[in-house]
Amino acid sequence: MRPASRNQLWRYKTQIIRPFDPWKSRLCTCPPKFTLDPYTGCEHRCLYCYASSYIRRFYECRPKKDLLRKVERDLRRLPGGALISISNSSDPYTPMESKLMLTRGCLQLFRRRSGDLRILLITKSDLVARDVDLLLGLRCAVTFTITTLDESLARRLEPGAPTPSRRIEAVRRLSGKGIPVGVRVDPIIPFLNDGEVEEILREAKDAGAVHATFSTLKPRPDGWRRLENAFPEVCEKLRPLYFVEGERIGRSYYLPKPLRFKLVKGAAELSEKLGLSYACCREGFPELNRAGSCDGSHLIPVKPIREWIG
Ligand code: SF4
Repeated sequence: MRPASRNQLWRYKTQIIRPFDPWKSRLCTCPPKFTLDPYTGCEHRCLYCYASSYIRRFYECRPKKDLLRKVERDLRRLPGGALISISNSSDPYTPMESKLMLTRGCLQLFRRRSGDLRILLITKSDLVARDVDLLLGLRCAVTFTITTLDESLARRLEPGAPTPSRRIEAVRRLSGKGIPVGVRVDPIIPFLNDGEVEEILREAKDAGAVHATFSTLKPRPDGWRRLENAFPEVCEKLRPLYFVEGERIGRSYYLPKPLRFKLVKGAAELSEKLGLSYACCREGFPELNRAGSCDGSHLIPVKPIREWIG
């Protein structure tokens, strides 16, 4: 029986595939789901990353100890139809995955439950295309985070991540195989990448993406410091927006609500025009969610991909 609420997820005594409950945020509209991070930390080193605020030595990425044995055990405890999101506090295709193949190992274990689990992969890496053979045997969808198409801006903003053109190419490869793909334009940062949203959506759609999720930048203190060091002029303009006119929700700083609404509504209208389903992430505008889910999990088909596409 699929869990109907987030609270029900805690009934299952799992060790490493944990209920997703991001700081009990009242703005989170995600469906009940589990989350799995094969790695602690991440080599992509995105300046805006919020996971570095609660994970020690975040940029010294390391594999989770004894991961596959723990995943195997947790899989025996998970309910039928469970949704597992991979990953929410790291990238499952961080560069060391090319050698360690832990994410691939998890997918192999999921395959043993074949049509049962629902898997949502969230990544910035084209390395996911290596695992197409396994993805085709799973009920799954993949969302790619693309914040800019400008390769030099991407190198500064997400120095360890694959280039935007490689991500777009991966969208094309996966969707070409029948795997449902979404794009996350997350974060949208005024004065830095907000002018690129249309182009990102257009390129992703041309490559085969069918859904878009948006989120404005919600910095925490350490991420703000990294951005300020790298983009002092942009942060000079952002500072009053976040720290004078904006609001603090939980441990994150938010832009003023009218500006957030304008940014997200603009992205929503562009998506509508392009024929993408769309939603926003932790913004507090449920009226702008026009999809079966905000995270792209509604793209996961009712059967493993290979059977679904026939
Ligand atoms: S890919 Fe995700 S988890 Fe990794 S550094 Fe970037 S934002 Fe953080």
